[in-house]
Amino acid sequence: MSIQVTRPSIPALEEYVEEIKDLWDSRWLTNMGAKHKQLEAELIKYLDTPNIALFANGHLALEYAIAAFNLTGEVITTPFTFASTTHAIVRSGLTPVFCDINTDDYTIDVNKIESLITKKTSAIIPVHVYGNVCNVKEIERIAKKYNLKVIYDAAHAFGVTLNGVGIGNFGDASMFSFHATKVFNTIEGGAVTYKDKNLSQVFDAMKNFGTTSEGTIEYVGGNAKMNEFQAAMGICNLRHVDKEIEKRKLVVDRYLERLSNVKGIKLCNPQQGIKSNYAYFPVVFDGYKLTIDEVFEKLKKENIFARKYFYPLTSQFKCYRGRFDSNKTPVAKYISERVLCLPLYADLVLEDIDMICNIILK
Ligand SMILES: *Cc1c(COP(=O)(O)O)cnc(C)c1O
Repeated sequence: MSIQVTRPSIPALEEYVEEIKDLWDSRWLTNMGAKHKQLEAELIKYLDTPNIALFANGHLALEYAIAAFNLTGEVITTPFTFASTTHAIVRSGLTPVFCDINTDDYTIDVNKIESLITKKTSAIIPVHVYGNVCNVKEIERIAKKYNLKVIYDAAHAFGVTLNGVGIGNFGDASMFSFHATKVFNTIEGGAVTYKDKNLSQVFDAMKNFGTTSEGTIEYVGGNAKMNEFQAAMGICNLRHVDKEIEKRKLVVDRYLERLSNVKGIKLCNPQQGIKSNYAYFPVVFDGYKLTIDEVFEKLKKENIFARKYFYPLTSQFKCYRGRFDSNKTPVAKYISERVLCLPLYADLVLEDIDMICNIILK
């Protein structure tokens, strides 16, 4: 028996089989079929956003969002994130300019954004990291002042709301990931929610080789379509996601009960006005009796796999050697060297959480 850091939520096999039966009749397996359309409509409702485009995965969703806004030059972002955020910027021919993060919620430090803006800056790509919400109001003010686009990496923030407003409504666009390890999954999958409805033609065409109608290719697009089996998994999982999030809350509550107010253990405080999705449980070991490596190894010896998430910073990746200076984002560097994400998924039972906490506290 082992406990992984995460475990995908899936429907009962019978439910999925029932959902994909139609596909045997229709033989319509991909290219924006009935399941794709249905999932789009249901997600517009669930996320409470005016426009959405589904993609094969979250990373491509982000690359296509960058393409849709014709960004150029430099993009301000944070290095305390998954590889995808930085890679999407670099793979689009743009230069990431790394801004530091807050000490409490690990999202972009809005007080440090303006000093990084140059004539070449075209956008800000902040990350709602761990489902913690960025200071969207201040980011909007800065973006307006300097005429910048804002694309949120909301891969961790499915279902999160700010003062009752769906998180996908902020900025010009937001990217969601529906990867197996995320709160809501379509096996692999992702989406972009966006403000400007004129972009719907762009997204629909771009992900299908630039095709606007049969024989008419208006964009240099690629292939990033979500297929019908992915969409069917999404339709099933969406029926259960609220219940899954409630179960995640119980896990987080138990962790909080056990690990709050322990000297040298720092947890994220709940944010004001936020309905959380309980996506991750990051713990920062800072002055604790054990180092992060000691905690990690002790858990591993019991077949419990926590994750150094996010370590290293994306700016420290081997592929970017010599290009960025991680000392320019000291808070991000400090946190990344001390943070561990503990196992968290809907079906994690209280006994296992207690076992994990006992190992850490012993
Ligand atoms: C998962 C993730 C992505 C990429 O999503 P995929 O669906 O795996 O391609 C991007 N950014 C962050 C922060 C993520 O956690």
